[in-house]
Amino acid sequence: MLQNALQFSHTLLKEVITDYDHVVDATMGNGNDTLFLAEAVKPNGQVYAFDIQEQALLKTKQRLVEQGLAEQTKLIWDGHEHLANYLTENEPIKAAIFNLGYLPKSDKTIITLPTTTKQALDILLYHLTRKGRILIVSYYGHTGGEEELDMINKYCQKLPQEQYNILRYQFINQKNQPPILFCIEKK
Ligand code: SAM
Repeated sequence: MLQNALQFSHTLLKEVITDYDHVVDATMGNGNDTLFLAEAVKPNGQVYAFDIQEQALLKTKQRLVEQGLAEQTKLIWDGHEHLANYLTENEPIKAAIFNLGYLPKSDKTIITLPTTTKQALDILLYHLTRKGRILIVSYYGHTGGEEELDMINKYCQKLPQEQYNILRYQFINQKNQPPILFCIEKK
């Protein structure tokens, strides 16, 4: 069976992450990607995970502690647009993931936004190492989702082919707007 967007995002991350890498979860939520990244970089790497909602940090911290993965993870209660404040000037980032939209079973008005998502992407591209990858899982069924998807599409299409490979992965015969996956790979 073909992998869905979430599964394939992890496959693409797994291919490049080693246990020495520094990586970013730009939208921590309930911590699924944070846990996956912490497992992938242990014991020598570092995960930076961001969310603007305290409940995301509390839930993710609990799960990390339960699984013995807290040590290599920094949970940051701040927007990903402020990422640069938490990295050193030339800190290499091997991979990052965004799960856009709102936190499932939570306040649907607290969503990721095109402007701040773009700011975070700009910062990440500066820090991304060669062969590094940024994964973006774009949900667009909610109010504001289409605008963000449009921004991501345009942003990715403008990146020069000489420097980046860009993949868009999407099921085109499924109902209910399944998420679309983008992968930005630095050559
Ligand atoms: N990957 C998560 C998981 O495993 O549960 C799901 C993420 S959820 C779709 C999107 C998350 O992005 C929400 O928890 C929301 O609070 C967060 N968010 C919204 N704006 C943000 C921002 N500017 N910076 C960081 N996180 C943000």
